[in-house]
Amino acid sequence: MPEFDKILIAWYQQNKRNLPWRSNNDPYFVWVSEIILQQTRVDTGTDYFLRFIKTFPDAISLANAEENDVLKLWQGLGYYSRARNMHAAALQIINEYKGGFPSSYVDIRKLKGVGDYTAAAIASISFGLPYPVIDGNVFRVLSRIFGVETAIDTLKGKREFTELASLLIDKENPGQFNEALMEFGALQCTPKNPECPTCPFNDRCIALSKNEISNLPVKLKQTKVRKRYFNYLLVNDGNSFYIEKRVEKDIWHNLYQFPLIETSDTVNLEELISNERFVNLFDPKEIVIGSMGPEIVHLLTHQRLHVKFIDIKSLKVVPQINWIKVSLTGINNFPVPKIINDFLLEMHSNNNEE
Ligand code: SF4
Repeated sequence: MPEFDKILIAWYQQNKRNLPWRSNNDPYFVWVSEIILQQTRVDTGTDYFLRFIKTFPDAISLANAEENDVLKLWQGLGYYSRARNMHAAALQIINEYKGGFPSSYVDIRKLKGVGDYTAAAIASISFGLPYPVIDGNVFRVLSRIFGVETAIDTLKGKREFTELASLLIDKENPGQFNEALMEFGALQCTPKNPECPTCPFNDRCIALSKNEISNLPVKLKQTKVRKRYFNYLLVNDGNSFYIEKRVEKDIWHNLYQFPLIETSDTVNLEELISNERFVNLFDPKEIVIGSMGPEIVHLLTHQRLHVKFIDIKSLKVVPQINWIKVSLTGINNFPVPKIINDFLLEMHSNNNEE
């Protein structure tokens, strides 16, 4: 399709959204925006992007920050390893590249947390290098227009789509081409109900002509969702609470939470009290067990969390070595998962109403 890039760019110039990271091609800005947008919707990501670059306007300020402050700014975005990796990558930029952003694909790809997709985005947008970006939008658009039925979650599929995008890319302006292709997938050729009647490719789109739109792109594996049961203990004396840091290699690494007992299934209050971990934590004579809140379901991409909060009044708890005593407002200084932050916001608003 010889004029593919021209049609795409013409569409982009008419339809592209005015997004803050498009105001310049600074690799630091492109990097921050691409990492934020990996798992986040554009409207949510925009606020985070603006706050992030205001607090850390360059790699030096990010490298000099405490990891806790970076995680705090990231709070609510999820996939916290992205923030930890960015912090580590900023240190790499300072130590290995004297503070200047690396400018070759190979060097960009060596930064912590930067994969093929992000490296191609930065290399093409900031340095004009002809590396195609391959993300969910690109898979969808190319599979439909060209009728590619190879599964996108296979090595063969990734290779095939990368080769196709490399053939199509505008060598003069690869950054704009990549941005246009992703934007086209986000706005025109959407997963459900794509805008085919107004699409500039509707006279040649194979999926449209064969009525195969809903079958493309092809994916082999179904994402398995793991169910987990989190029981958070609000161990308090009325004013102060205990929190702990999540240090295991698991979701929310290095974030803070109320002391947690994870169970293999949902439990009621009686079952929780007889749980071995609970028995080891508390002397029943020294605590007053309050209510167990209703179960809240919190969805992550591969996990379904069933979360309960249990009020435990204790004047004389022997804290675990890793527990930190904080006031209710003091918790706000620590990065916490969204589910805890939502709970705290509700608690604050209930307190204000009383
Ligand atoms: S015609 Fe429809 S399915 Fe084909 S590229 Fe355009 S929007 Fe996507």
